Amino acid sequence: MLNKKIIPLMLAAVLGGTAFLMPANVQAAVVQQQYINNNRSHQALNPIGLVIHDTDNEGATAQNNRDYFNRVYVAASAHYFVDWNTDIETIPENEVAWHAGPTANHRYLSIEMCMPYGHDTDKFNKVYENTVQLAADMCKRYGWSTQDIRSHYWVSETFHETDHEDPIAYLGEYGKSWDMLLNDIQKTINGQSVSVAVAPMAQSATVNSLVGTLQAEINRQALGNLVADGIPGPKTLAACPLLKQGTKGNITKWVQERLGITADGDFGPITRTAVINFQKAHGLTPDGVIGQNTWKALLGL
Ligand SMILES: [Zn+2]
Repeated sequence: MLNKKIIPLMLAAVLGGTAFLMPANVQAAVVQQQYINNNRSHQALNPIGLVIHDTDNEGATAQNNRDYFNRVYVAASAHYFVDWNTDIETIPENEVAWHAGPTANHRYLSIEMCMPYGHDTDKFNKVYENTVQLAADMCKRYGWSTQDIRSHYWVSETFHETDHEDPIAYLGEYGKSWDMLLNDIQKTINGQSVSVAVAPMAQSATVNSLVGTLQAEINRQALGNLVADGIPGPKTLAACPLLKQGTKGNITKWVQERLGITADGDFGPITRTAVINFQKAHGLTPDGVIGQNTWKALLGL
């Protein structure tokens, strides 16, 4: 990542869980597709490999990063942000992102590993695990080997267009080396187990504290009777009300928070424009009205 001045936002809720050895068939975190509107190249990319970075921004979640790059133009971006709960895709894989200088940007996909606040081994292990899974998935889909996976450090040394050395120091802080990361990605490609301690909850569910808040509000307004577990599904979707300009209340406020705009609970023209932009970015009819299809995208379903 070229930009270092992301304002640290809220910390994600700490998830409990006992460390265990990950079985070979463990499910990767579900990737949420939340394309950003700002910081887009709109240039075609035929990726030949992957560059792995860290955000150099302690405490910021994938969602915090995504919302920042959506809101503020900084001429920087990445395809994926991976934290201790979630993988968020912010740039389509067939579009150039701005993460490692012009040469690498036009050749590689990018993953930004998020950093927990302070030294938090449990959270790091989950970020590491989610990164391994996502990188292995890319290798399988594109037919790459781990030789096609590069660090930003390697990119800087090779093309001399940036001077960043991530994510080597971040890995080292937790006793991992670049070679260990590639080795674990290779094992995952092969379907072997990887001895990384992970918390089961983060692996079994993409826990989204935002969704839990929405589910609780739906229950409070008697629009549904949901389990407020933060996991969106058909029941949650069906309970989401139609929202349009003029609507007021906590569910409108939730949508505003989800879109990264001022959350005043009042669906006015600014909210409508943000909804239209979101709909365009997700290939939906851009009518500014939040019906079931738009809810589906908002919930990452
Ligand atoms: Zn970087």
